Amino acid sequence: MTKEIIRIAVDGPSGAGKSTIAKKVAAGLGIDYIDTGAMYRAVAYRLLRDRVELTDESAVEKLLADTDVDLAMGEVLLNGEALGDKIRTPEVSKMASACSALPAVREKLVQLQKKMGREKSVIMDGRDIGTNVLTDAEFKFFLTASTHERAVRRYKELKEKGQDVTLEQVERDIEERDRNDSTRELNPLRKAKDAVEIDSTRLSIEEVADVILNAVTKGR
Ligand code: C5P
Repeated sequence: MTKEIIRIAVDGPSGAGKSTIAKKVAAGLGIDYIDTGAMYRAVAYRLLRDRVELTDESAVEKLLADTDVDLAMGEVLLNGEALGDKIRTPEVSKMASACSALPAVREKLVQLQKKMGREKSVIMDGRDIGTNVLTDAEFKFFLTASTHERAVRRYKELKEKGQDVTLEQVERDIEERDRNDSTRELNPLRKAKDAVEIDSTRLSIEEVADVILNAVTKGR
């Protein structure tokens, strides 16, 4: 077993399978998985809970100053409290996409993520990991899939969790989040020049995880 640190960046739009795949790769390589989307979701959850308007800059900054976001054992912790599925609702998804465009929110979370990537081997997934957070990552992947396929996957996930949604609704939400995430000024969703693109529309989670695992094992 080699001791060197490896950093793997996985970016792509909502529902491309990034987190399930990254978890599998992390388990296969025995390294940590960092779900940066969950960190934006934790901030979004708190903004909703405290009824803070995104247009109220000073209220957002005050909230951020008193917000500690951490990841431990597959959970996101907000000031020490494990949030579980409370951050997986359509409402939180929308707010995460909206608040992630705010410079104060991004500054805080990107700084935390960069620190996590300096300390140990990680696979980190998000939207701006290869282009902004881990620009010198040893491996970068960009996962895509058709909008419809991504909506179907997300719809099944939400249904399994007992949420009352329609496929049309989920597809519309995904389109809106794609638009927000790729058109925002600060760190938009982009494929890094040196990232390997994988279209997972016709591939299973296992197949995509294997492509990444093989590339990393060979390239080490
Ligand atoms: O990946 P997930 O869907 O959980 O992310 C929730 C939201 O957080 C995304 O829609 C995106 O707006 C934001 N995000 C981001 N940068 C990241 C990860 C997530 O802006 N690195």
